[in-house]
Amino acid sequence: MVGRAREHRALDGVRVDRVSADIHFAHTEHVNWVIYSGPDGVTLVDSGYAGQRVLLEASLGAVGVGPADVAAILITHGHADHLGGAAWLAEEFGTPVHAHPFELANVRRDILEQAGTGGVLRNAWRPGVVPWALAIVPLLNGRADLGVPSATAPPMRGERIDVPGQPRMRLVDGHTSGHAVFEFDDEGVLVVGDALVTRHRTSPLLGPQLLASMFHHDAGRARESAGAVGSSTARFVLPGHGEAWIGPASAAAEAALDAGAPW
Ligand SMILES: [Zn+2]
Repeated sequence: MVGRAREHRALDGVRVDRVSADIHFAHTEHVNWVIYSGPDGVTLVDSGYAGQRVLLEASLGAVGVGPADVAAILITHGHADHLGGAAWLAEEFGTPVHAHPFELANVRRDILEQAGTGGVLRNAWRPGVVPWALAIVPLLNGRADLGVPSATAPPMRGERIDVPGQPRMRLVDGHTSGHAVFEFDDEGVLVVGDALVTRHRTSPLLGPQLLASMFHHDAGRARESAGAVGSSTARFVLPGHGEAWIGPASAAAEAALDAGAPW
């Protein structure tokens, strides 16, 4: 059940859906991010490709805030399509960037658990792979290895992260070694990054699914982690790729396991 969010604003290249009182889902053709904007401030979860900065700024504007208002950025995992905007905000505004402690090496680019040119070339014969690769190359701004050297583990207050929105963080590794999901339980919203997705250009499947194995550091573990997403009581699941899932997280996880990965 992929339904319609309460409100949405279509901007050139990015659509911003308001999924709860304070949470907005920014959806682009290639990757998504999430903006929490509440009385306690603004938190960004993931941040698009470096080449999507204009879209990131437009999405913040749609919510009525600017880049300098972002108090903190949470990164589900350190892939180029999730931390491009964070690298810019950290450099330009000194915005703190946080990820799970196990993911910091990826975010800082001490290591790179990401599909490389070899993997893409080996799979180039599969439908969708070449068009996907050609579309994303310009979005990398020539920096597939872009990282955020200043990234740290999030400041905690009890079980919650001490940033606006106060989400909980849970490790769901496999896609990368420190991939995390962020749950805003007051809003009933779970931000899942690439633990499961609802659509991807390299897949003919529709709805909750796993990314193709080429994208995972450990595909077996990624499958287990997609199942673990189902233990959340969230009513909205916001993936890194594809549409928002409006319905129980348990149903999203079940559907993703049923669909599996395209290859
Ligand atoms: Zn991704």
